[in-house]
Amino acid sequence: MLAGSLGSFWAGLQSSSKKSQQDLSLSLEILGFLYLASVPLFIFSLLSGCLTFDGIAFWVLIPVPSVFLGTAIGRYARKQNLPYAGILVFLTLLFISVGVLLIEFLLLPQVYFYNHIWGLWPGPIYDEAVYVTGSFLFFRFITLLWILLLWVLPHWNKSLKNKLVSGLIFILLSISYSNLHNVGIISPTGTIQQNLGGKYQTRHFNIYYDISSYTRSEIQYWATRHEFHFQQILSQLDINWPPNRKIHSYLYAHAWQKKEITGAKFTSYVPIWLSQDQLHIAKQQLEPVLKHEMVHVISKQFGNTLFNGSWSIGLIEGLAEAIARDASSQSTLHQIVAAERPLPSADNMKSALSITGFYGSAGAISYTTAGSFVQYLLHNYPFDHFKQAYKTADIENTYPVSFDELVSGWHQTLKETELDSVDKQVSEFIFAQRSLFQKECPHSISNELKLWDEYNYLMASRDTSSAYRVLTDLYQTDSHNALVKAEWIRSKLNMGEPDTVIKSQIVSNSILNLNVLYADALFMSQGFEEASLYLGKFREDISSQPARNFRYTLDLRMDSVQWAFFLNQRYSDHLVKEDTFLKLNTPNKLSTLNKALDLKYYNKALIYLRLLSVEALSQDWFDIIEKAIHMSAYIGEYDMANELINAYNDPDLRARYKERLSEQSEWLSFLQNRNYIDQQK
Ligand SMILES: [Zn+2]
Repeated sequence: MLAGSLGSFWAGLQSSSKKSQQDLSLSLEILGFLYLASVPLFIFSLLSGCLTFDGIAFWVLIPVPSVFLGTAIGRYARKQNLPYAGILVFLTLLFISVGVLLIEFLLLPQVYFYNHIWGLWPGPIYDEAVYVTGSFLFFRFITLLWILLLWVLPHWNKSLKNKLVSGLIFILLSISYSNLHNVGIISPTGTIQQNLGGKYQTRHFNIYYDISSYTRSEIQYWATRHEFHFQQILSQLDINWPPNRKIHSYLYAHAWQKKEITGAKFTSYVPIWLSQDQLHIAKQQLEPVLKHEMVHVISKQFGNTLFNGSWSIGLIEGLAEAIARDASSQSTLHQIVAAERPLPSADNMKSALSITGFYGSAGAISYTTAGSFVQYLLHNYPFDHFKQAYKTADIENTYPVSFDELVSGWHQTLKETELDSVDKQVSEFIFAQRSLFQKECPHSISNELKLWDEYNYLMASRDTSSAYRVLTDLYQTDSHNALVKAEWIRSKLNMGEPDTVIKSQIVSNSILNLNVLYADALFMSQGFEEASLYLGKFREDISSQPARNFRYTLDLRMDSVQWAFFLNQRYSDHLVKEDTFLKLNTPNKLSTLNKALDLKYYNKALIYLRLLSVEALSQDWFDIIEKAIHMSAYIGEYDMANELINAYNDPDLRARYKERLSEQSEWLSFLQNRNYIDQQK
């Protein structure tokens, strides 16, 4: 981007001066300097192994056309003998590089941008891989047309050939510009809505969704969730929503479709600077981020006048985290931050709440730390102070006490927060994630990762058979990767091919969950005796594991009956009848209930729930019971939902579980008093 900008301004100013005549050699000379300056970068990325094909392609596709465009503009001004040619050229280049960007930024909901001077901004780099796309090649073709047009324009009417050439270029340019939205160079609102194809309206939302990826009942459910979080946040932030103001929510099929249309892959986003309220989320991300993103949309109501937000990104993200509270499913925000010592100092916090500090450290650190701090502010001071601080990005002068006092009050709260070993694990995990700038080659993606990405894409598109083919390729290229291996075994067991797993000789692998999966394969192929013998070798290892996911591994496979039920349920989606359910042990009962909930077999799930004595269940089953409460409330089984909430409402419940339980209580009472209208178009 820098080389392209520098090169085009340089070429433009040079070629616009009266003395210059050698346009071609001037351009090549400037390119020579640019590439010479890039040599250290080239060597550095070569030595560190970060050099990628796409990286080199960008070095060709950005500076070369940009320099020639600069030359073409300068040359045109010179040939036309324009007065103040240098200044005119400078202003023209400024308009193309900054003006056009601003116009697109303020009118379009996308987060990627193409530019004739600086090339491209590919979208949020959280997504990490940056590729040369067909759209970008097409865009550079347009740059080429401009260069040619400006080159022939000074003498376009000198000969028939010139006339024909300039006419042809003009036609090609017109065709290109009228198709920018079709080739993915811009994504206007109308095009996105057309691409998605589905529309669902509620009182406060117009939901545009990918029509082939959501069933009618799915979209009804998500519409309800939209209204639910909307009401929650409104009352929490004490906001009077303007009548007739509608939020547009764009729900994509999956991250890959979203990347293609908007430029952002796994990053969900809310362009708060646009006057139309809107959310952009892919289907798989809806559950974890809907509430967080909704806070961003709603807090536009008290944002600054320039972009409806705050100059402090820490406050923007901190607020969303503090309200959504879902940084971890096990620990509260305060617990996560309190488990990491030393606590962030007042200076740390000042920088975390500034623009530069926020992006310097890894997302999770700053989001969580800011979230905990904002939660403290919201609980201890009137919300009006926060609104003021948000708008002005000035905490110091909006709160009645100094910033240092705010931080020390927050520290006090953190020190009084009760912690256990789980909180420490969660905290370590979150704080160990590395910032993009600390990763060695953030944009260099290995072939294995590409295949893994393709596998996930195919799974998200529900093309299981192609997905499994890619997975087999991946397994063959990278058979040492435990994650890949586990996924591969699961796919084989799902397809009912345990013998393939056994033949692949994964035996005596040091990784525990692979051995468990292998034992499952043995059971399916050769029966209980063999499988039990094999699993027996790891019995001690498994029962001494601190990780939660091994806690019931052995119970689920306790004897031949339980093991058979478990495998039937897991790999064949078989849901047992009432009388059989009673024969299952508790882990298998809960596992079966979980399956019924995931498959949305509500009646079956209700039958199972009535057969369970929930009071006797340990906190280990919280996730599944939470899911059951959520479902019961949604399908109108309010008494069941209520019973489950009361049964689990124990003073000894983990702090985070209490938060989650109260969220479900709010959900229940929202549904019982539902008063929004929906209609479909
Ligand atoms: Zn956010």
